[in-house]
Amino acid sequence: MTNFKDTMNLPQTDFPMRANLSTREPAWVDFWQEKNIHQRAVAAREATGAPPFIVHDGPPYANGHIHMGTAYNKILKDLVVKYKTMRGYYSPYVPGWDCHGQPIEHKVEQDLGPKRMAEITKPELRELCRDYAMGWIDVQRNEFKRLGVLGDWDNPYLTLTHDYEAGNVEVFKKMYLDGVVYRGRKSIHWCIRCHTALAEAEIEYYDVTSPSVYVAFKLDGMLDAFKAGYINGESVQSDASASLVIWTTTPWTLPSNVAVAVSEDAAYVALRGADGNLLVLAKERAEAIAEVLEMDTENLPLLVDGSGQVIEVPGSELTKLTYQRPIPDAHPDLKGRIVVGEHVDLSTGTGAVHTATGHGHEDYLMGQKWGLETIMPVKENGVFDKNAGPFEGLHIYKANPKIVEWLKDKGTLLAESKIEHSYPHCWRCKKPVIFRATEQWFVSMDHPGLKHAATAQAPAQSLRQSALDKVDSFNWIPDRSKNRLSGMVESRPDWCISRQRSWGVPIPAHRCKDCGEVVANAETFDAIIALFKEHGADAWFTTDPADYLPAGTACTCGCEQLEPESDIVDVWWESGVSHTSVLQARPELSRPAQLYVEGTDQHRGWFQSAYLTSIGAYGKAPWENLMTHGFTVDGEGRKMSKSIGNVISPIEITDKLGADIIRLWVATTDFTVDVGISDEILTRVSDSYRRVRNSLRFLLGNTYDFIPARDALPHAELLDTDKYWMIRLKQLHAKVTAYNDDWKFYLAQREALDFLGEFSALYIDVLKDRLYSDAPTSTSRRSAQTVLAASLNLLVRTFAPVLVFTCEEIWSFMADEWKLDESGEVVESVHLCDWPEFELDLSKDDIDTQLSTFEQVLAVREQVTKALEDARTAGLVGKSQEAVVTVRSDIQVLDTLRSIDSELLEEMFIVSEVNFEEVEFDGEAYVESVVVPTADNSAESEDAEVEDLAEAEANDDTHIEVIITKSSLEKCPRCWNYRELGTDTSHKDVCARCASVLTQLGFSC
Ligand SMILES: [Zn+2]
Ligand SMILES: [Zn+2]
Ligand SMILES: [Zn+2]
Repeated sequence: MTNFKDTMNLPQTDFPMRANLSTREPAWVDFWQEKNIHQRAVAAREATGAPPFIVHDGPPYANGHIHMGTAYNKILKDLVVKYKTMRGYYSPYVPGWDCHGQPIEHKVEQDLGPKRMAEITKPELRELCRDYAMGWIDVQRNEFKRLGVLGDWDNPYLTLTHDYEAGNVEVFKKMYLDGVVYRGRKSIHWCIRCHTALAEAEIEYYDVTSPSVYVAFKLDGMLDAFKAGYINGESVQSDASASLVIWTTTPWTLPSNVAVAVSEDAAYVALRGADGNLLVLAKERAEAIAEVLEMDTENLPLLVDGSGQVIEVPGSELTKLTYQRPIPDAHPDLKGRIVVGEHVDLSTGTGAVHTATGHGHEDYLMGQKWGLETIMPVKENGVFDKNAGPFEGLHIYKANPKIVEWLKDKGTLLAESKIEHSYPHCWRCKKPVIFRATEQWFVSMDHPGLKHAATAQAPAQSLRQSALDKVDSFNWIPDRSKNRLSGMVESRPDWCISRQRSWGVPIPAHRCKDCGEVVANAETFDAIIALFKEHGADAWFTTDPADYLPAGTACTCGCEQLEPESDIVDVWWESGVSHTSVLQARPELSRPAQLYVEGTDQHRGWFQSAYLTSIGAYGKAPWENLMTHGFTVDGEGRKMSKSIGNVISPIEITDKLGADIIRLWVATTDFTVDVGISDEILTRVSDSYRRVRNSLRFLLGNTYDFIPARDALPHAELLDTDKYWMIRLKQLHAKVTAYNDDWKFYLAQREALDFLGEFSALYIDVLKDRLYSDAPTSTSRRSAQTVLAASLNLLVRTFAPVLVFTCEEIWSFMADEWKLDESGEVVESVHLCDWPEFELDLSKDDIDTQLSTFEQVLAVREQVTKALEDARTAGLVGKSQEAVVTVRSDIQVLDTLRSIDSELLEEMFIVSEVNFEEVEFDGEAYVESVVVPTADNSAESEDAEVEDLAEAEANDDTHIEVIITKSSLEKCPRCWNYRELGTDTSHKDVCARCASVLTQLGFSC
């Protein structure tokens, strides 16, 4: 038999079917780096004066490998940068790292060990921390690059560089001079292990077991109302004393006790204690406490008056008395005060609240309100100083049992047990934290000082007010994330920004050596900015202030001896001011950025610190769009954790499946909620990936001899089928673009993937005969190729921001003639391309006709396909090419089908022949496929009728029956279609179409 293979236009491409992403991708990373692709894409937009779209990187912390959450975030940013770049925006991406802070210092400290730590100087310690950070920056940089993220990797921003450090001072200066930054004494969360103050964002809650003790605070004197009372018929002894009963779970705070808070209007009563003295507490709590104290609750020993009425006094009455502080040794003259507090809660405790102004937020507020003393016997390492009297030198947790013992000895301990409760812990070392009053630096939320917020009509605003006013000044993605940030701004306390650590930017202020006052003004700040810019913050620790401060800088007391602050700023402050240190400082960037995008946890972290410092310094948000994404969780929605064993590492997936698979996963997830990842999910993503790859490979393979400029047909001259798919491409382009512009990347991806599914099943599959068998330059083949080329051009760019490696690989396999820019140069990388334009050159009438025709034709095709399957199952036909299809329907359907060229219908159904038979259906709407064998060549002919094979389809108006018979024609040895052979005598073996092609090719056998 003649071999016709060489006369066919079989697909030609070296683009591999197997992706082997994990092996191939790294070469592309090198290629982009060598060719400066990102920088060139940015420069090209800059040259045309394109509008900016700056995606500002929230800096990951420079310790440890990247995890799924960081990978997700970075890929999302990269997707936006690449898309916006293609859309013609100037979008330089400057990645950053958060390099200072406690975790790094802690790690270096651990590595050094306590002995070397004691010897090392601050500058030496800082040097080690810097090395540690820089090491991890290199690791993470390679990991991010490996994910296909493009950016200015050689020139990232680091919070430890001189310029960056100076930016901190610029913001500090503005807010300090407005009075919004202040120094004050305040009870704050304090980690005694890390020796530092902690912000709200650095606190985690865990259950712990604490001592639960009831203590009697002996009152100085006795209320008259109590003196006249009786208990169980006996009058109060003249020498009896009365004590307030308090409850605490932190006995170590008792040395700091200065007051007891009571409820102003609540009733207080007295019980007779075991020693005959009175115990005063809230009436509402009397029974519960009596039970704790193991009293006879059936017959409570309550103090009553002569008529047997329980004697009650309001809390306000108690405030006339003082009491003996529980552990008074260090301050023997200080009397405990009884004060009224709105926070006193009668659902727990005794209604008399132990108050140590240095050890709690409420306590601190009570101190402010009533002018109470603050006794702070706890040193920063958690050890008592001399203010704790007999407990000096003890660690607070070791002191707990000792203090309880001591109270027992004194006879003031009423009861003791254990309690399990939720307690704040340090986010870093996971140890319980304490409240501790210290001198700290704060950002005031309510000081009405913001100058830029002042107008002729309104006075300067507070930071809280200004921050709340501005929440409508930018775009929230998604909308609902607005409540998170504004809710936190609304309720947060003042922001404690000082940390007692070494690895960071110093608080840029000085203290008078004489009187301790803060010395800071515009001139000192400017001097510090200059110092940091030139020598970095390290100079703070090594340079004499007199060497950099303006001559004559002095305290208001006249003293010129100034000492630099030893605290550093909160690391959140540092990363927050990147709007100044990066966006404003770098010439290629600008403030505000067009987009900040981070996970939801950053509403209390970076988003908040960036927002507050930007509002504080400039009265404006640092962004135009604020995008929040969910957490990455496992397939069942659980947080990833080592203990569950459900951690998926992006590096492992990259090594196993390839970065494009992770990227496709990111792009197809709805980022506004938590996003799941598991092996099963990755398998599904890999399947989608394979479909994309195979489809694009088909497009490459069947356009090898097609040069768009030479061979493309005008759209109006395309065959109907091709016209229809050209219209569908246009629709796809419009939808994908609209979804992407609306931040709905996952909908854009799903649209594209769904399209590809239909495209390959309904189009690519049926085109094969025409592409392979028609004459190479025939109009019919060129018509199909025109659509395939347009698809390839569109899809390779549409998927480029997501499948960055695969699309670059495809681009490299596309002929140079396809990749010319406006000046006729070959575009070297798909990432230098613009987002595709898609001009559809068809009249509106033509478009409408094609859409409505094909809607019907494809519906019929569905029925034909089902009928063909049934016919195959029944053994009537083998390949569909053997089948003759008869469509029985009403005139309207048949007219539509007839409006299409019969060859195209045969092609679309992949059958030998399509016939029509007009029938009148009665009212009932249904669709049926019937298989009828031809009379002559089917043994099973009699019983091969299959009824009710198809279900009624949605279109109620359509009445269709499909009848399949086997073709009586012969199989053409060239195209394998069943056709009349030998009609062309010059090529007797083949069908007429093939004969004509062979003639054109000059083929003779
Ligand atoms: Zn800690
Ligand atoms: Zn002074
Ligand atoms: Zn043929």
